Amino acid sequence: MEYRSVPHGREQLSIIGLGLGIVKPNHDPQGLLNHALECGINFFDLCCAYEDVYAAVRPTLSRQRNKVYTQMHLGAVYKHGEYEFSRNLTTVRDTFYRKLELCSLGYTDFLMLHCIDEVDDLERVLNKGIYQLALDCKAQGIAHHLGFSTHNPAIAKRLLTLGGFDLFMFSLNAAFDFKADGELALGGSGERAALYQQAVALGVAISVMKPFAGGQLLNAALSPLGVALSVPQCLQYCLDRPAVVSCLTGADSPEQLDVSMRYFTAAAQRDYAAALETVTQVHDLKRCLYCNHCAPCPKQLNVGLINKYYDLSRLGDALAREHYRNLSRHASDCNDCGHCDRRCPFHTPQQARMHEIATYFGF
Ligand code: SF4
Ligand code: SF4
Repeated sequence: MEYRSVPHGREQLSIIGLGLGIVKPNHDPQGLLNHALECGINFFDLCCAYEDVYAAVRPTLSRQRNKVYTQMHLGAVYKHGEYEFSRNLTTVRDTFYRKLELCSLGYTDFLMLHCIDEVDDLERVLNKGIYQLALDCKAQGIAHHLGFSTHNPAIAKRLLTLGGFDLFMFSLNAAFDFKADGELALGGSGERAALYQQAVALGVAISVMKPFAGGQLLNAALSPLGVALSVPQCLQYCLDRPAVVSCLTGADSPEQLDVSMRYFTAAAQRDYAAALETVTQVHDLKRCLYCNHCAPCPKQLNVGLINKYYDLSRLGDALAREHYRNLSRHASDCNDCGHCDRRCPFHTPQQARMHEIATYFGF
């Protein structure tokens, strides 16, 4: 397992996390959780579809409290034991405290304003008590960090501007990023890329939901991009986006979780660039995807990372210049061999870009 830091915190989250949204109470949630821990997973999204799951995972979660990190949601409530969405302040508050008690957690590491996708709903959450409840939980130490979940980049942008959030959960995958605005997901490609960079600039981490587009991306017949990606490719695409710290994969059994763990056992299959080569929407952008498919550079430049720091710095990330400085090779070391231009499946004019980057940073 690999771990990534939350910029405004001490947490080191596993790059693959486990979402308990699809696990059924009679499918041994505790066994699943134990298996996840054995895999090195330490980050769990507790937006369960069934209320009984909270009590089922209590023995493991409470025993490992100092070693696991939890994401819990203000707005995920239960009727007759099954998930419902609510903005009723009393219901939301009572349900959150009940969930904490059912799990014997004492606190949650990340408390999320749950699933805000529309402006009217955002106003309701901010102005009718739920946001204040989150602030109170943080002040009381019941929540260590505040966050939110959304599928809408415009909502995410507004909440990031408001400040006070350290992590947000966003629906992210190659299909959502490259289809036109509204065709499959909200936000155009440029708007979504700008959001990831805004998050880095503000030191806000992203946890990913829907890394496989609900499984569609894994199946050529269903894939919105017309090509199937493998599980390691989907996960690598998400993990290459700026600000992403963890991909939350849903599983209902240890075997299902092992499918995501193939990211580590089939590392040679992570390169997604060739798979996306035939997707015209990707070409049209002429943007570096940081995929490093063009490696190896004969001058040992890390082309993806150089491009990432450049893009981040231009968007105001004060740390990006220093990160760029710390690289062992810089854009100015490029010898114009043209290898990356020939190798890039997306025809990014990388050689010219290296000149642009060297001029921008001065080395
Ligand atoms: S230049 Fe092309 S192949 Fe190289 S990192 Fe960027 S997108 Fe990937
Ligand atoms: S053109 Fe520059 S960055 Fe690209 S492969 Fe050659 S030396 Fe490396």
